[in-house]
Amino acid sequence: MSRLLLKDVRPYGEGDPVDVLVEGEVIAEIGANLQVDADEIVHAGGSVLLPGFVDLHTHLREPGREDAETVETGSAAAALGGYTAVFAMANTDPVADNAVIVEHVWRRGREVGLVDVHPVGAVTVGLKGEKLAELGTMRRSAAEVRIFSDDGHCVHDPLIMRRALEYTKSFGGVVAQHAEEPRLTVGAQAHEGANAARLGLAGWPAPAEEAIVARDCLLAGHTGGTLHICHVSTSGTADILRWWKSRKTAGAVSAEVTPHHLLLTDDRLETYDPVNKVNPPLRTDADVMALREALADGTVDCVATDHAPHAAQDKDCEWAAAKPGMLGLQTALGIVVRTMVRPGLLDWRGVARVMSERPAEIAGLADQGRPVEVGEPANLVLVDPDAEWTVRGAELASLGENSPFDGMQLPGRVVATLLRGRLTAHEGKVRR
Ligand SMILES: [Zn+2]
Repeated sequence: MSRLLLKDVRPYGEGDPVDVLVEGEVIAEIGANLQVDADEIVHAGGSVLLPGFVDLHTHLREPGREDAETVETGSAAAALGGYTAVFAMANTDPVADNAVIVEHVWRRGREVGLVDVHPVGAVTVGLKGEKLAELGTMRRSAAEVRIFSDDGHCVHDPLIMRRALEYTKSFGGVVAQHAEEPRLTVGAQAHEGANAARLGLAGWPAPAEEAIVARDCLLAGHTGGTLHICHVSTSGTADILRWWKSRKTAGAVSAEVTPHHLLLTDDRLETYDPVNKVNPPLRTDADVMALREALADGTVDCVATDHAPHAAQDKDCEWAAAKPGMLGLQTALGIVVRTMVRPGLLDWRGVARVMSERPAEIAGLADQGRPVEVGEPANLVLVDPDAEWTVRGAELASLGENSPFDGMQLPGRVVATLLRGRLTAHEGKVRR
């Protein structure tokens, strides 16, 4: 059995440094100055040890757009970003709306072996919003799909949404909603506000998100189904979720926020650089502040990247023609440290909660988001909290280079990632 010794680590950033011995796939021993033989020693210099991150919202672009990302390159980005599990969205080409496609993605993830790749199944056939996909078949497939989403599109028909919540309830599934009332966002290019008006861009109004969130909370409560809200972007949505969760009959509703919605605003639109085009759009400073507060107090459960790589020709073009989305896997931690840890809104236990424990719970993963304790699976990330690094979009592992954080200096660096006891990334390099 392989033995890996992590020397001088601080679990959750608390207390004096200890050593952690990983034997095979589990944490075997934790203590000060362990005197043990090991195949490999990682000298951590007091770095923070956390459970490996879990991303509920990743676009890997395989099958169909392997020029933008593949399971392999996306897995590399995930490992380098501290992730041990990612959920790959269904809006591939062909769409992951059947057992064949989800099993293909799942199998590719296992072959690459850098991160657990869990395919998300489409809610409706072809993401068209008309007819439920074969949810039960995807659940029973080798990929054991548990989360279903038409992400990129909203399940806008309330009856289809109701049926999806009812049907997934029968096997403990989750419906993850991209909340966007399509009739309010026809032609939308940017957050509907002063900046869009000044720049002549068609607006994406906040109520298009909020109306769907409110409706779906009511439907989840009524059906007893499990609802997850993708990429919450407005202060109004945070208010609705806070109100809904305060009710005794709230049922199972969870929500995620992206790193970019915790940091960037629509002031970025000034340059018309499509790297800032994303759906839902970057919003106002007041929204950003409300989302940070909602993440800190648990109204929003977790951080999810909405990692959305694009080929150059889909981003290096005029604003209206550019595809929405931005890279996220390798910059997520740095942005959470900058927006939440440094201002004192979250401590490292809080980071573990929003980037690992809650997403693992929402997804029903038994071996992720576990405590850093003896006997637990060694899915771990080691973070240097004091290191600063400069983002270089072209140097990130993704095939796409569309990072809005290019050139930005971020705090908090991933030193190492372990998947079931094996180093998948160390000192900025992928380990195969
Ligand atoms: Zn989406």
